[in-house]
Amino acid sequence: MDEQTRKALRGLPSVEELVSHPGAQKLLEEYPRALVVQALRETLQMVRKSLLTATEPGRSADAPGVGDLAPEGFLSQAALVLEAWSRPGLRSVANLSGVIIHTNLGRSALSARALDRVAQVARGYSNLEYDLEAGTRGHRETHVETLLTRVTGAEAAFAVNNNAGAVLLILMALAAGREVLVSRGQLVEIGGSFRLPDIMRASGARLVEVGTTNRTRIGDYEAAIGAESALVLRVHTSNYRILGFTEEVDLAALVELARGRNLLVADDLGSGALADSAIFRGEPTVGSSLSAGADVVCFSGDKLLGGPQAGVLVGRAEVIDRLRKHPVARALRLDKMTLAALEATLEAYQDSERVGREVPTLLFLSRTAEETATLAMDLQAAIERRCGDGFILEVEESSARAGGGSMPLLELPSHAVRIRLPESSTTSVPSLDTELRRAPLPVVARVAQDSLHLDVIALDGTDLEAVAESVAWAMARAVGRGLTASDSGR
Ligand SMILES: *Cc1c(COP(=O)(O)O)cnc(C)c1O
Repeated sequence: MDEQTRKALRGLPSVEELVSHPGAQKLLEEYPRALVVQALRETLQMVRKSLLTATEPGRSADAPGVGDLAPEGFLSQAALVLEAWSRPGLRSVANLSGVIIHTNLGRSALSARALDRVAQVARGYSNLEYDLEAGTRGHRETHVETLLTRVTGAEAAFAVNNNAGAVLLILMALAAGREVLVSRGQLVEIGGSFRLPDIMRASGARLVEVGTTNRTRIGDYEAAIGAESALVLRVHTSNYRILGFTEEVDLAALVELARGRNLLVADDLGSGALADSAIFRGEPTVGSSLSAGADVVCFSGDKLLGGPQAGVLVGRAEVIDRLRKHPVARALRLDKMTLAALEATLEAYQDSERVGREVPTLLFLSRTAEETATLAMDLQAAIERRCGDGFILEVEESSARAGGGSMPLLELPSHAVRIRLPESSTTSVPSLDTELRRAPLPVVARVAQDSLHLDVIALDGTDLEAVAESVAWAMARAVGRGLTASDSGR
């Protein structure tokens, strides 16, 4: 440590000095004193650390010099810390990425009916586990079970925390310590954290790989069945397709084979299209898996269903009963807010006319190119009303995706507002993108080559003005700051 650093460290003010500085008054009016003290302590810590590293070779260029160590400097730094602390960690963002069911952005937006029901149930007490007729203890699952059997036609139903949990429960309850047959073409990894072989291991069931990656025939299954076999699991290859010289056994044939050998058949549909609607463009439906004879079918609540995070299980009463009674079911149970949202989402499916308009995910999936063109033009106009000088805005055709591991090859015709920079610009597309993510309503856009694309397929019309506001805010910041050293270093 050199003499200059030693001097600077000695010269640092104390927390007490800073709190009683007149400049701290504003912070103390806005935040509790204890929080201000904590923020100042953190700020001093940061400065101390950067002073120490500043003496090392390769020191960071922006470490404050001794001249920066005035109380005002600490106080404004502490103000930034306090501001960051008071922002919620989990908050709304606008999804203009062109991916409708975006797992990183929370997958599905809930319908107004679902939001309403969540608020009603969460603001006070509810009959979560209380039978109002009998005045005795009830079961939380009953609320969605009848509705699920009605809309799917299944004998029985049960819902857990997510579809990964549903698969785990199936394996533990129906095949622990025994063998489960899965085609090699279906050993999926979804979103980097759901890997079928890993779940299988965790469940205590033994995976028996059947056939090859691209071709699996009924004879492969037949040959793989042994005395230890308990279950045949079909997994929907949600987020990929094996193309070309391929073969998979259809579910009805698997069911026939399994029946003759006393095995059960489970079908993990992943997305789970509940209605046989053109919106789903040929995704396998829950109904078709049930009529093919699967003993149990599972799917996510927040993918194509358009509801909250959940894992839905439907199938034969005797099998569902075994799942419900397994001890792990208790560890995977749904909370009351999710149950409320799930029930309200399922209610919409009772009316096939209305569901496409009521559930946002379905609404976005069914948007036509004309509708997205209009929306994109409205967004462009709203941005230009606020700003736009120094940027080139135009509406262009875009190709969107369903996301959420559904329909991976399908391109949905959509439109985007494309933002480009003139040659003379003092900013860059990556800086604009960075500022957009920092905006009051953060906007997640798509950066492609020399431009930024705001795809409107998943934009709720009521958010349009707020998005335009964020874009204008980000443009002003990007231009105001220009290309500074901190940008290139980020
Ligand atoms: C998405 C998916 C899962 C995992 O579902 P979560 O609801 O994310 O837990 C499991 N299996 C398949 C085939 C999937 O597509």
